[in-house]
Amino acid sequence: MNMRELPHARALGARFKEKLQNTLFYMNVFQGMRIGYLSLEECRIVLSMKKKEMVLITDELPFDKRSRSLDINLAEHGKMFLENQGQEEKQRTLGVLGSGDYGRAIAGRLAQAGYTVLVGSRNPNNQAIRTLLDSKPGTRLVSQEAAAEGAGILVVAVPSDHYSRLPLHALKGKILIDVANNTKMPKPDEMSQAEILQQLVPLADVVKSFNVLSAYALENNVNQAAKQVPVASDSPRAKKMILELLKELNYTAVDYGSLEKAREIECIPLRFLPSWKIPFIVVAILWCLHFLLLLLKFQLCETLDGNPNKASRLWRHLGLLNINRATAITALWTLTLCYIPGVIAAYTQLVWGTKYRRFPNWLDKWLRMRKQLGLLMLGLGAIHTILGTAVWSSKYDPLIWDKPTVIKTMVKFNSSSFTEKEVVVQNSLMNLQGELFITFGCASMFLTCLLGITSLPSVGATLTWREFMFIQSKLGWMALLTGVVHDGVLGWGFSPQHYTLCSLPSGAQYALHPPLLTVILKLPLLIPWVDNALQTIRRGHDRKKRRGRVKEHGKKQFYQDDFSLDGKKSAAASSSSSTNHSSGSEPH
Ligand code: NAP
Repeated sequence: MNMRELPHARALGARFKEKLQNTLFYMNVFQGMRIGYLSLEECRIVLSMKKKEMVLITDELPFDKRSRSLDINLAEHGKMFLENQGQEEKQRTLGVLGSGDYGRAIAGRLAQAGYTVLVGSRNPNNQAIRTLLDSKPGTRLVSQEAAAEGAGILVVAVPSDHYSRLPLHALKGKILIDVANNTKMPKPDEMSQAEILQQLVPLADVVKSFNVLSAYALENNVNQAAKQVPVASDSPRAKKMILELLKELNYTAVDYGSLEKAREIECIPLRFLPSWKIPFIVVAILWCLHFLLLLLKFQLCETLDGNPNKASRLWRHLGLLNINRATAITALWTLTLCYIPGVIAAYTQLVWGTKYRRFPNWLDKWLRMRKQLGLLMLGLGAIHTILGTAVWSSKYDPLIWDKPTVIKTMVKFNSSSFTEKEVVVQNSLMNLQGELFITFGCASMFLTCLLGITSLPSVGATLTWREFMFIQSKLGWMALLTGVVHDGVLGWGFSPQHYTLCSLPSGAQYALHPPLLTVILKLPLLIPWVDNALQTIRRGHDRKKRRGRVKEHGKKQFYQDDFSLDGKKSAAASSSSSTNHSSGSEPH
């Protein structure tokens, strides 16, 4: 813009200021523009309306500097702005029916996203509700009718029992978001609350959504980006708009389909740890079994020798020592349970020669339980670490400490006589076994913590697939191996005399059986040609199909080179791989 045009623009601004009354109007020209020109790219008109700042970029609008266009175009912009402003204001206005906990929480959240929210209440003049909404700028308390009138999309935050008392006539043609939840499991053929609302207002588009977000989470800005928010509606247009709204609010929206799916969606908040139930029960059963076994060995069998002093000493260990041992054994078994299904899946795929076949249901479920099992193992490992530190003494685990010194001394028996006694002085130095025991225990715990942390969605999302697989698979196996060595150094020192008690082996030896078996089963899978065959299957090559084709074409060479990873052959194989994608999750 040349200097002569600047006062002209200012004058224009002043005229607009007059026209738009409370509107402040000024021109802002980008730095670096060429003097004398006000090109489309360089011109930006900023209109500050009250507190809100609207920015119009003139790129798309006709602008011709050679005529009196500066005046004309700015005038046109102003007019268009005023017209569009009404439209935009309406689009950015949402309604919420109900000023209860959920109504206020969702209104606040929507207002934070930049919407004007009309909260429709039966008592729009209620001072108490007004005070509560005062802390949520962008919200306004109005009557239910006014909210319905002023917004195209309304959140119905009223318990479903009272739907029939809403101003239903005013809701025609609106998009209604039904957030109601079930308080108990409904009967199989019972209608959902969203369907009931749709029946009450057939001319509205009811969308089931938001019900999985609690008022607490909305109110306290809890980051729930990882949470899936289902959306269901019979109106594709309304569903699309709500999916976009959820995306804008930074939630993970999931399209569940038609409104009938609301029956399922309304039950989601009633679910109680569905993915944790079985892993928790399995781990609890294992722990109880181990505790009972230790009770049998240390308390029941050992007291059979009839020494009352020894018996009382042993029974007291029920409070801590037995718990620590049962926790340690269960922790190692639980970590093993995370890796056995992967090994079974690998052998299954090798036998089947394809990954396009569903694993049996039990294996599929087990594979999907690994994350929960791993986190439970982490919990057990943490408890074992704390309890283990408390009983860290040569009196508890004599095997891993240097031998105690036995001193013979004369003890005063009574005022005149002495008797010779042996006094055991415990050694405070660990032997090699003890030092290895601690070091490998720490290493296993560290690796398990790493596995636990990276299994958190927010952390996992920052990793590449390769990094994630390296940690969950390679470091996971390392955690198991270090755990085995940690326990093994304690278990190896046991001699046959330790089996004399009801012929039961030591706790440390029980702990070793499943992990050792798993490691042994894993070893053949590490042989390069076995691993190659498995990786080929996992890349989608179907061995049986290929064999069939090879036979058909009579190309013996291909048959023998079944899993060759030669580029061309692989490409041919992958293009011929089965289109049946029904296989379960790929094991790690
Ligand atoms: P609430 O605190 O009891 O609020 C319900 C509001 O509904 C009342 O404050 C009232 O607001 C309005 N309402 C309109 N007509 C009514 C009538 N005839 N009788 C009584 N109230 C009437 O309940 P809420 O916790 O906000 O729950 C509202 C809905 O959200 C429920 O369907 C619930 O399942 C769902 N939801 C709640 C949560 C949560 O965390 N609270 C989570 C997910 C879903 P006015 O007085 O302003 O009219």
